[in-house]
Amino acid sequence: MSTSAQIGVTGLAVMGRNLARNFARNGYTVAVHNRTASRTKALVEEFGHEGDFVAAETAEEFVAALERPRRLVIMVKAGQPTDAVIEEFAPLLEPGDMIIDGGNAHFADTRRREKALREQGIHFVGMGVSGGEEGALHGPSIMPGGPKESYDSLGPMLEKISAKAADGAPCVTHVGPDGAGHFVKMVHNGIEYADMQLIGEAYQLLRDVAGYTPAQIADIFRTWNTGRLDSYLIEITAEVLSHVDEATGKPFVDVVVDQAEQKGTGRWTVQIALDLGVPVSGIAEAVFARSLSGHAALREASRGLAGPQASPLGEAEAAAFADRVEQALYASKIVSYTQGFHEIAAGSEEYGWDIDLGAVSAIWRGGCIIRAAFLDRIRAAYDARAGLPSLLSDETFAREIADAQDDWREVLIAATRQGVPTPGFAAALAYYDALRAPRLPAALTQGQRDFFGAHTYRRVDRDGSFHTLWGGDR
Ligand code: NAP
Repeated sequence: MSTSAQIGVTGLAVMGRNLARNFARNGYTVAVHNRTASRTKALVEEFGHEGDFVAAETAEEFVAALERPRRLVIMVKAGQPTDAVIEEFAPLLEPGDMIIDGGNAHFADTRRREKALREQGIHFVGMGVSGGEEGALHGPSIMPGGPKESYDSLGPMLEKISAKAADGAPCVTHVGPDGAGHFVKMVHNGIEYADMQLIGEAYQLLRDVAGYTPAQIADIFRTWNTGRLDSYLIEITAEVLSHVDEATGKPFVDVVVDQAEQKGTGRWTVQIALDLGVPVSGIAEAVFARSLSGHAALREASRGLAGPQASPLGEAEAAAFADRVEQALYASKIVSYTQGFHEIAAGSEEYGWDIDLGAVSAIWRGGCIIRAAFLDRIRAAYDARAGLPSLLSDETFAREIADAQDDWREVLIAATRQGVPTPGFAAALAYYDALRAPRLPAALTQGQRDFFGAHTYRRVDRDGSFHTLWGGDR
């Protein structure tokens, strides 16, 4: 058995297999291993010609194949399987070796694992990987956390296999210690949920209010994709919308059951945001919209509820409306990213990660699902002003929203009048208006809390904490 592999990958389902191939295609010798050995054999048989693989049947063989200090990537099902694999391999490793978890782990698990392995002298890198199976093969966006020194030896390899942004920069950086990488990957996915929901709402409005066909909407998305909304998700949306179902000849989108599924990272983003006290209302609405879509029986029972039927506009009005929807989509997107970056900043503060938000936006410019021209501008905003309190504090984004807001409001008025649900657009606008409001009804909330629970309140004109002796027989 050769001991020359510079990196090893265990877990050879779609992601692990493609990541291993990516390392091999970039000239690295890659040890490969999988619980079920047939997958290892299949990989080498099918793709052995692509590079230098060392197939290992047992954990011992796998570890023995790696040069020291060892770099061992785990790409197995997140959760308990990851713990099982760590338990299997950790006793075979030596101080200075590195375990890299490329699965979609919860960052709290990563923190726990990193701490336990640190005590054994093993470097544990929780590494977010985005881009799906194609990204894993051709270049993903990579978000490694873990000890900084691990990046000295791992970073150059990741930089080689990662996606490259338009300016050639590799889409990988050391995000921060312990769980920082998986945290950022989690928020990436939350933003992805919001982006998809907003695109879905734009589609529904173009269909029901403007009266366009899916093929026409695909063309509109293609046009949008040449402008400021230029992004992978807009691009693939046009592809999906123009796809025709072979069996029926109908638009593909019309033959798919309208119940969206989810694997959990969007939900985690919202759960953690609640814990951190960060309002991520756009992401939350996106998660809830998927949940609501899945409540088939509830939806069926509610079909008879009263409300308007959307009635499509005429041709000239439809084109103008589509322009407005673009404005609403763009403004809502700015808000989603504002909320997502706020959550990253809050997580960084809470866990002492010192995450560079500009660097995060830079590594999302290529390879990942939310890759978009827009991210270059987010990076520029954070680079231009260290400590930018919010993306909405950036002059350019604030101006763009100012320009978009009349149309944004008009789109929501039309949606409300015609009964088209737009929770993402509406939540984004409510967030924006709440931030800019000179006074919020929170003052009344405080009064109510003091009334029923003596929770006290602060005053606008004096320091301190106050309680009113409310009258009545209580
Ligand atoms: P997956 O379906 O999540 O997991 C299958 C792999 O896990 C197989 O190699 C399987 O081995 C192994 N496995 C499961 N339980 C195990 C256990 N108890 N002990 C040892 N191995 C075990 O595979 P995937 O879709 O390639 O994803 C891998 C990881 O990447 C996951 O954490 C996923 O969340 C993450 N991820 C996926 C995507 C994506 O687009 N799919 C994108 C980013 C990140 P056997 O062959 O023996 O069953």
